Amino acid sequence: MEKFDVVIIGSGPGGYVAAIRAGQLGLKTAIVEKDKELGGTCLNVGCIPSKALLTSSDHFIFAKKEAQKHGIVIEGVHVDLAKMQQRKDKVVKTMNSGVRALMKTNKVTAFEGFGTITAPGKVSIKSSSGQAQEIETKNIIIATGSVPIELPFAKFDGKTIVSSTEALTFMEAPPRLLVIGAGAIGLELGSVWSRLGSEVTMLEFLPRIALGFDLELSNLLQRSLTAQGMTFHLETKVTAVKVDNGRVTATATKGNEELKFEADKVLVSVGRAPFSDGVGAEKVGVALDDKKRIKIDNQFRTNVEGIYAIGDVIAGPMLAHKASDEGIACVEIIAGKAGHVNYDAIPGIIYTNPELAGVGLTEEEAKEKGIDYRVGKFPFRATGRAVSNEELDGTAKVVVDAKTDRILGAHILQHAASELIAEAVSVIEFGGSSEDLGRTTHAHPTLSEAVKEAALNVEKRALHIINR
Ligand SMILES: Cc1cc2nc3c(=O)[nH]c(=O)nc-3n(C[C@H](O)[C@H](O)[C@H](O)COP(=O)(O)OP(=O)(O)OC[C@H]3O[C@@H](n4cnc5c(N)ncnc54)[C@H](O)[C@@H]3O)c2cc1C
Repeated sequence: MEKFDVVIIGSGPGGYVAAIRAGQLGLKTAIVEKDKELGGTCLNVGCIPSKALLTSSDHFIFAKKEAQKHGIVIEGVHVDLAKMQQRKDKVVKTMNSGVRALMKTNKVTAFEGFGTITAPGKVSIKSSSGQAQEIETKNIIIATGSVPIELPFAKFDGKTIVSSTEALTFMEAPPRLLVIGAGAIGLELGSVWSRLGSEVTMLEFLPRIALGFDLELSNLLQRSLTAQGMTFHLETKVTAVKVDNGRVTATATKGNEELKFEADKVLVSVGRAPFSDGVGAEKVGVALDDKKRIKIDNQFRTNVEGIYAIGDVIAGPMLAHKASDEGIACVEIIAGKAGHVNYDAIPGIIYTNPELAGVGLTEEEAKEKGIDYRVGKFPFRATGRAVSNEELDGTAKVVVDAKTDRILGAHILQHAASELIAEAVSVIEFGGSSEDLGRTTHAHPTLSEAVKEAALNVEKRALHIINR
């Protein structure tokens, strides 16, 4: 029986990054993946394909609506969806082979098959062709990720009632698309299909979109997306979905009112559930919490010696970079080093246009926690770069501790927010203040100047403000 130091079950951004780090640290490592390709949800049906379609559809809107403002005349702009989808598939394939090459470089053995822990230190692998084998290991990391949540009255049929996985593969823009749930995934895929021609209606149970993000900026994002043609119904609880002859009717309640929505397809994007079915965790005594997430201590250890867990299958935000950083920290702990993840500095992003990014505390969270806080804000339209780009929407905002000036959170709504937020993440990681950020030289003309100006504005001393 082959023996390893670490066996990782699941090859998403949690598992495969943990495997790389384990290889770097000289641990004899194996990764077990039930799907044909490595990379998990993120690479195959999540982050990467969604961003490929978001980029392509954004280029289409630029060519159709924005190019002329720049003096660029493009005639006969139209979408070749088959080609767009082929490009997306090629992006995914390129990344798949990249992950496989990384496994080889780091001397990680990749097993194709379903992994089940049969006892602490033992993993059985059943391949898709039915062959079974068992491997031995000192340590096991469960990195089995998550799956889309299904609504009991709207079971996925893969054609008309779909999850994000199928909504990434439509070969025609559905004329009318209903999206249940206005979180990151719903807003991103709603945007893609709205840009590509669908009439998109977003139904959200809460009185706001983008839960977890800054409320003021989420409201501004909703305004932008509405201007782009998406329709939002908030405080709207879907209670039934019927499919008749390939047409959908959703029934919802809003206050005392009953509403009906008709569409050609419905995307259910109400969140994801941790997935550990069949991995054998409970059989060997690993404890789960009430949400079926694997319980761990602050060092990713489960209650069973030698078994660890990371990523979407444990508590915390379901994000690829959170899973990866946990994978690195977990392996470092296994190798006797001091692995650590700073959960106060994990950015979250919605890749719409404009993008919405946030890290640390929102203003609402600071208020709820009773923190004495101050806020600095700055509109992008007051920066030279946003004006020259004609991307005027958006605001940068920092939340600081009123006494110490330490930055507790930063929130950005802008076309390039996903890149701009990295600066704030670093400042938070180093325990920096708005004074530190405001005194840092930012290149001109850049969008990042708005982040500096927001920091200066904590003391009401932003420079480029007319009519203060
Ligand atoms: C449409 C969409 C867009 C997203 N966009 C973003 C984004 O832009 N940024 C971001 O940070 N996050 C994004 N996410 C979330 C992100 O994909 C997840 O947070 C991330 O993939 C979690 O990583 P993981 O390693 O924990 O699990 P996963 O990526 O889910 O990987 C788990 C792997 O384990 C395998 N597995 C499960 N059980 C077994 C078993 N018993 N044996 C063998 N293999 C097994 C699965 O097949 C899978 O490959 C998105 C998700 C979706 C659906």
